[in-house]
Amino acid sequence: MHTDDERLTPLRGQAREWAADIEPHIAALDRDPGTVARLIHLPLLSRLATLGVPPEYGTPPLTVGGRRYHLRTALEKAVFFEEGARADLGLLFSVPGPDMSGTLVDALGDRAQRDWFYGRLLQRPTWTCFAMTEAGRGSDAARMSTTLTRAPDGGSLVLTGAKRYVGNAVRAGVAVVFARFAPGPLGIRAVLVDTASPGFSAEHVPTLGLRCLQLGAITLDAVEVPEDRLLGRHLPAVRQGMWGWLRTFNTWRTVIAAMGVGAAAAAHAYALRERPAATGADREHWDALARRIGAVRALTYRAARAVDDDPADGELASAAKLTAARLADDLCRAALHRLGPAARLEHPRLDKMARDAQGLELMEGTANVQRLAVFGALVRGGGARRP
Ligand SMILES: Cc1cc2nc3c(=O)[nH]c(=O)nc-3n(C[C@H](O)[C@H](O)[C@H](O)COP(=O)(O)OP(=O)(O)OC[C@H]3O[C@@H](n4cnc5c(N)ncnc54)[C@H](O)[C@@H]3O)c2cc1C
Repeated sequence: MHTDDERLTPLRGQAREWAADIEPHIAALDRDPGTVARLIHLPLLSRLATLGVPPEYGTPPLTVGGRRYHLRTALEKAVFFEEGARADLGLLFSVPGPDMSGTLVDALGDRAQRDWFYGRLLQRPTWTCFAMTEAGRGSDAARMSTTLTRAPDGGSLVLTGAKRYVGNAVRAGVAVVFARFAPGPLGIRAVLVDTASPGFSAEHVPTLGLRCLQLGAITLDAVEVPEDRLLGRHLPAVRQGMWGWLRTFNTWRTVIAAMGVGAAAAAHAYALRERPAATGADREHWDALARRIGAVRALTYRAARAVDDDPADGELASAAKLTAARLADDLCRAALHRLGPAARLEHPRLDKMARDAQGLELMEGTANVQRLAVFGALVRGGGARRP
């Protein structure tokens, strides 16, 4: 057993216990994703409002069984989100808290920016959003057309453009928005935006799966941003943009992978609870699926440890995210198949799991984007070849 496994057991147990509180609310949540706001007092969700906030801001860690967890490492996040995803795949991404934006602010923010960002989150539970994707420019973010320019008076910056498919966009109080600031690959930069700023508007984009994320389309109509909200401004030029967001993606790809593992385990458990596998080939088939879940979990934890050791080391994170997204989709399909042709109608809970699992393919980069990352690492002789 890895020494981390023992350290993380209390965290896993607590998250699993709390995740059970969510179960009774899932059907209503699927009908009306707006009900998320009524659930944020549940312990699993309310903890996320401050977990991940750096300890220097005085936020207490989660203490279980005498151990303390700040949920600032990829591995701790992976364990917590895996358990949450067993109950509902999207819910942990749909609540107030620093989320991905916090990881980017940690990587690129100076002291004043961190104070502003975390100060806002500590005043009251605040949703954040991470606005990178544009219509038709998801995988190829370098081609984004949103611009960040200097105002004519030179005293502030101006954001102009549009973003799409951004989780929590409609309810976020603080947004991290990416835009082109200068030509070339290093010219994409991120700014911290108060969503109450004039010119910032967001509208809901309905989806079939992961509805509680309430994806949104953001319009940025000459939004004025104080110059001191430009992330990375105190860093050398090569570290101001892509350097930070690749690190952020590496961390959160392992979290998405863990959520895929949790969703797959939930589908496996659901199928066997509804129709137990008795003997023979059927039993062997479902035992093999359980072993596959275990193998992807091991890969995911290995990827999280690699990212925690070196946030630039994302090859295993891509491999884990790619494999876990496929795993969740496969397990949901296997469960639906097991329960017969009317399974989607007779088992709305499983139908929801299957719709949600399909969203994993697109989050934090599509399967092909992960394949390209893994392939690139193999060509360079990188992480994916490690023993
Ligand atoms: C549930 C959910 C939550 C999301 N949350 C956010 C968020 O909070 N913030 C945000 O900014 N975005 C978010 N997104 C958007 C997501 O990041 C994009 O959907 C994703 O990056 C893909 O971009 P796209 O939709 O434009 O597809 P495209 O990039 O157009 O891809 C379409 C297809 O082409 C393939 N493809 C693209 N380029 C290549 C290539 N070079 N080689 C081979 N194949 C390629 C892709 O694999 C895919 O199959 C979210 C999406 C979902 C579904």
